[in-house]
Amino acid sequence: MGANATKDARTAATEIVHTLQANGHTAYFAGGCVRDQLLGHSPKDYDIATDARPDRIKQLFRHAHGVGAHFGVMLVKNGGHVTEIATFRRDGDYADGRRPDSITFAAAEEDAQRRDFTVNGLFYDPLADEIIDHVDGRADLEKRILRAISTPSQRFEEDHLRLMRAVRFSAVLGFEIEPATWNAVCAQSASLARISIERVRDEFSRIMLSPGRLRGFDLLIDSGLMNHIVPEIDALKGCDQPPAYHPEGDVFVHTRLMLSLLPEKVSLPLVLSVLLHDIAKPATRTWDEADQRVRFNGHAELGAEMAESILRRLKYPNDIIEDTVTGVANHMRFMNVQNMRLAKLKRFMARDTFADEMELHRVDCLGSHGLLDNYKFLQEQQRAFAAEPLIPPPLVTGNDLIALGWKPSPRFAETLTEIQTHQLEGTITSRDEALAWIAQRVRTSDG
Ligand code: ATP
Ligand code: MG
Repeated sequence: MGANATKDARTAATEIVHTLQANGHTAYFAGGCVRDQLLGHSPKDYDIATDARPDRIKQLFRHAHGVGAHFGVMLVKNGGHVTEIATFRRDGDYADGRRPDSITFAAAEEDAQRRDFTVNGLFYDPLADEIIDHVDGRADLEKRILRAISTPSQRFEEDHLRLMRAVRFSAVLGFEIEPATWNAVCAQSASLARISIERVRDEFSRIMLSPGRLRGFDLLIDSGLMNHIVPEIDALKGCDQPPAYHPEGDVFVHTRLMLSLLPEKVSLPLVLSVLLHDIAKPATRTWDEADQRVRFNGHAELGAEMAESILRRLKYPNDIIEDTVTGVANHMRFMNVQNMRLAKLKRFMARDTFADEMELHRVDCLGSHGLLDNYKFLQEQQRAFAAEPLIPPPLVTGNDLIALGWKPSPRFAETLTEIQTHQLEGTITSRDEALAWIAQRVRTSDG
């Protein structure tokens, strides 16, 4: 590849269009990259649409190979980039609610018509610097409107994943959904049940990772799509809480408010833990007669179990599930941080999910009573401990115990943990002190 590898994706794609056009073909940039470019965003990748057939593309590009599942879409390598080249097509019937049974090669205009939304239906000729708009996409882009091409209900009936794509593009681009398109999303939301959970989950994740996640959340709730993703979230509506701690309202209002308080960029476990942290409140709600208040005893523990089964159902990878569940399980422990022993606090803070848990705690407070005393305390501790690792290298190890003639047993780990506790609390500060502590302990316990 050499110097070629440094070529940017746009240059690589433009060269491909040039080769196609120089050989007598029509060829354009198509879809998302045209939309993003007009919005002033830099496109993730460049897709090319052309009247050249796959066989012809193979003749023109040495490195072209087809991707079966996409009906003759060719991938071409150039300058370290892989660009998709699709022959203009019209879709056949849709029997499975997701993909056409067949495609037929067609003219550019028909290829624009088979795309999902007008703002995704634009072509651009990078050599002539010209937009080719068969679907009035440009006007919608300027008005920031997401509109299905042609008859919305038919387009969602063909491919139900477009229901999720409508919400995603609205959230990510910050576009309003045009009323007829929106009505069709609402009317057909139940069709989402026919789409594989992996595809739904991927769209859901992209919505929740987007800075526009609040709009996306509202659209998923209002359309009814959420009922086919995480129906448990809908069940938070009307679950009332003690007004003294939760002046904002019920658990649904609280969760939604937290979502709005997150920074633009979040990890998936953080945003999922926000959505799920109080998921067990409806199931654990009781009335405390003595204190005359609602309680949710054990909601963090049951919430962790519920979060795990929800995320398994959505087939999230294990590491995402683990980190999310950890955040849910621990979110009430933040109320106790100021009473923790130093060693316990340091261990709590040293866990690799801690930064996300701090953020969960921050929006939990700001989305309710607004008191950040525990959060601020933890920030101070972070500053105070910043000079050294929270968990320093051990003063003694299992090998030291073996050298002292110990036989491996559960006491081994217990002893090392105790020494670490002293080390974290500052009551043992050197290896010699640690060895002396062990010797002392052996004398007192073994006589
Ligand atoms: P992004 O890559 O940011 O998700 P995109 O618009 O490029 O956005 P892709 O999924 O990469 O979306 O698809 C590229 C183009 O293919 C789209 O812009 C659209 O024109 C068309 N397209 C993709 N999926 C569908 C679909 N399910 N139905 C109709 N057209 C689609
Ligand atoms: Mg794309």
